[in-house]
Amino acid sequence: MSTAHFRFHGRLNDFLNPERRGRQVAVRFRGAQSIKHLAESLGVPHPEIGQVRVNGRDEALEKITQDGDSIELHPAANGYSSEPRFLLDCHLGRLTAHLRMLGFDCLYENDFDDPDMAEIVHREERILLTRDRRLLMRRIVRDGYCLRSLEPLEQLEEVILRFELTGRIRPFHRCLRCNHPLEPVEKERVLDRLEPLTRKYFDEFHLCPACGQVYWKGSHYERMLGLVERLKTMRADTQRVGATQPCS
Ligand SMILES: [Zn+2]
Repeated sequence: MSTAHFRFHGRLNDFLNPERRGRQVAVRFRGAQSIKHLAESLGVPHPEIGQVRVNGRDEALEKITQDGDSIELHPAANGYSSEPRFLLDCHLGRLTAHLRMLGFDCLYENDFDDPDMAEIVHREERILLTRDRRLLMRRIVRDGYCLRSLEPLEQLEEVILRFELTGRIRPFHRCLRCNHPLEPVEKERVLDRLEPLTRKYFDEFHLCPACGQVYWKGSHYERMLGLVERLKTMRADTQRVGATQPCS
């Protein structure tokens, strides 16, 4: 039997049993076990892990653990190098709508099962958003984030801070119903589909060419602007550490 000593930093502690948070954890193991495997056996999904230090040196998460190793694991850095595209699991319908409202590409279907979702995020290089740690631990999932909150607006804040999205927000860019990019449309073309008050007070409209939904900047738009302004003033380093609700 071998023993390695793990220490988890920052928000990785959210995944640990309370008695293990913020302290060194001795892990006993047999045979050739990767650091990734042992970290996941403690409940920490690999997409959440960034820098790996073993005995004071940078190493890969796939490195085989040696008896006596002292291992420090840090959370994945905030931000994302390219235009982020998401896939959300079937419990996250309201978060999907919020993210689409801000212009983000979000794949979401009620009937995806776990192998489907892992395969799609792998093939399409999407970021998996879920509260299901087992799903994030699937081998072919590279980028992902485990939502800590159960509340859709708090989840939106988490995603915006984790992937540093405030500079990429583009309202009225994507259909809330089907994720297709919207196009501006002349008022005359949609006139027969508008309620009398909408017809009277609004002149700027967007149309989803895929499903035909019409959008205009009504009261929901004003509320959204308020939300966007508040999120823009938030900094990533204000992100809460310590889950209020355990992830499953
Ligand atoms: Zn649509």
